[in-house]
Amino acid sequence: MRLLLSLLFLLVPFGWAAPSWLRWAAHPDEGFTRFVFELPLGTAYENQTSGAVVRVRVGLELPEPETLQPDDPAAERVELVPSAGGTEVRIYLEPGASAKKPFVLEGPEGRFRLVFDLLHPKGGAAAPPPKPKPPAPVVVIDPGHGGPDPGAVGYVQEKSVTLDIALRVKRLLEAKGLKVVLTRDADYDLAPKHVKDFDERKRIDLDARARMTNGNRNLFVSIHVNAAERPARGIEVYYLGKTLDPRTLALAIAENGGGELGRRLTQQTESTAEKALADLIAQGNLQFSKRLAEEILRELLGHTGAKNRGVHSAPFYVLRYARIPAVLVEVGFANHPQEGRRLAQADYRQKLAAGIAAGILDVLSGGAHASAGR
Ligand SMILES: [Zn+2]
Repeated sequence: MRLLLSLLFLLVPFGWAAPSWLRWAAHPDEGFTRFVFELPLGTAYENQTSGAVVRVRVGLELPEPETLQPDDPAAERVELVPSAGGTEVRIYLEPGASAKKPFVLEGPEGRFRLVFDLLHPKGGAAAPPPKPKPPAPVVVIDPGHGGPDPGAVGYVQEKSVTLDIALRVKRLLEAKGLKVVLTRDADYDLAPKHVKDFDERKRIDLDARARMTNGNRNLFVSIHVNAAERPARGIEVYYLGKTLDPRTLALAIAENGGGELGRRLTQQTESTAEKALADLIAQGNLQFSKRLAEEILRELLGHTGAKNRGVHSAPFYVLRYARIPAVLVEVGFANHPQEGRRLAQADYRQKLAAGIAAGILDVLSGGAHASAGR
């Protein structure tokens, strides 16, 4: 039945019946289309153009509504709608087209012509480009550290673990139809070759990663491995904010390059976080980031059985420019005797990757990214 209906729909032409008082012609060489309303003398009319719609109300009756598809470079479609005492004509402009002021010309015996010239989009595109499908969500995965910076070192090296997990997350998300951008896909950092100073490389590297949170991307997840002086284990997930907890602050300084550089970048990020808390749109994004952190943590714990160290806010530099939900995951402690050894196992890293991917998918399917402000 549905097939039959679609066939009928294809066979029945629509939009052929323009009323006798309305016609138009494209003049591609001159770059405009002329719409002419040829009306009996004394017919009332008024018009209003706002944005991409030209509205003209004429005092002539129309038996029923019509939609016309003019196949024109300037007019996408024309709707004729019966309205009180007449007809409203709505001309929907193609992107880039615009309407000039209307003017009146004399018509044949007993009539006058109301003329609208619509300018074609620049470049005179004859055929409008095909309407693209809504794009697949784009997820940025950031494997922390790389190249000269190994990150935390214990039973494993942080930079190798984060890269391996990121590659696994990428495969899992791509299998679900998402697009994934990695900040790095091998053992390197994002600073140019000629920069020799370690701190300067680190600063450039972190800044380049942080800037991958803009553009047409939907989510950003930075992956890291923890280390602690006193034995500690478990998973914690962060979104951008300030912290009063000294241990969290020390972690942020370490992840922001450590030492003097780490302190400076942490301070800069704290002031970004302060501004974000005073900005409604940024605040909304922080709420979505927190929600993403909670979903990822929940899934990670479910997939691994690891210890829950909670969701917190902290001034991580890689999160500072984000206008999309952005989080930093600490998947475990490199120097914990059990957890460090688990991180060295491929099947455990696969569980971590599955948890991160599941958290991302939960949030995307819940539509959180769709309403996140830009
Ligand atoms: Zn790290």
